[in-house]
Amino acid sequence: MKAIIAEPPQKNSVRLIEIPKPLPKKGQVLLETLCVGIDGTDREIDEGLYGTPPRGSGYLILGHEAVARVEEIGHKSGIFSEGDLIVPTVRRPCKENCLNCRIGETDMCLTGNYFEHGIYKLHGFASEYAVSDANFLVKVPTELEDLAVLLEPLSIAEKAVSQSFKIQERTRWDPRKAFVVGAGPLGLLTTMILRLRGLEVDVAATREKDSLKAKIVGSVGGTYINVRQTPIRTLEDKYDMVIEATGRVEAALETLTLLRPNGVMCFLGVYREKKACEEFGNVLTNIVLGNRLMFGSVSSNKNHFEMGIEDIFEIKRRYEGVLNNLITKKTYVTDYKKAFASERDDIKSVIYFK
Ligand SMILES: [Zn+2]
Repeated sequence: MKAIIAEPPQKNSVRLIEIPKPLPKKGQVLLETLCVGIDGTDREIDEGLYGTPPRGSGYLILGHEAVARVEEIGHKSGIFSEGDLIVPTVRRPCKENCLNCRIGETDMCLTGNYFEHGIYKLHGFASEYAVSDANFLVKVPTELEDLAVLLEPLSIAEKAVSQSFKIQERTRWDPRKAFVVGAGPLGLLTTMILRLRGLEVDVAATREKDSLKAKIVGSVGGTYINVRQTPIRTLEDKYDMVIEATGRVEAALETLTLLRPNGVMCFLGVYREKKACEEFGNVLTNIVLGNRLMFGSVSSNKNHFEMGIEDIFEIKRRYEGVLNNLITKKTYVTDYKKAFASERDDIKSVIYFK
């Protein structure tokens, strides 16, 4: 079968190879992959910054945003039928099976010894067939087949938003206005969820006001801010909630000053720049004197995927084709390289296996 692999930490190692079809073990399901979405993590693995092959393998099969059909059910899985449409979650329990992994909340793993399909010590789904534990697959209604590839990134946004609301149960909180920094797939999906929750949403990014990203923000009733014309530090509005999805230290620090008292800010980026903050004392004082709260959020679990399915239906109902507009590039597996090349107005690239 065809598989898209990488050999981290080598740079530009992504290529297509032929390998034998995998066999499901007890509790596993054999999946026939329909498509995979490519995101920043996949590109970082290709750059050699990230990614660890499974033990004993010289390469890592990529792909953690997948849509597949159940091809064959391993012994005693019992949850699925052959032909079911599924989206796999990414993270699997740690070796120690910690408190959180034990209840399926692998995204909150305590030990760091978890496994992640297509990223860390487990093969991904960018191959014609793949195997995965039946307990970590999410069944998707067939009418969502064309949009299900957005479910994994949507689950990340669902976790960020639901945890923000959960955390804010610490006080009386009536959020009106949210700020999303970054208009990649994650920023745009977060914007849509926040709109469904009834918030006014401002979205800041670097593209022009007539770009596709800006248009998508407008089409769900958000306000787009081009930070090249209006830098974040010059904004006068304040926000109850901020979601940082750029991974840029400067954007994160500037945004901190826009948080209202009792507000909450969620960080979703991986901040690779090693920058010193000269006024860190002021940052901390600002947090204390306003009861402000900052937290990080990574990965997601089945619950967040289930929330995502409900919200896809609601987004379709309210904003029609907006989710389809996020998928800007579709390629067949033999043309996989096109999906890794990032062009200016790209949002989400998808590689099809069928
Ligand atoms: Zn764990």
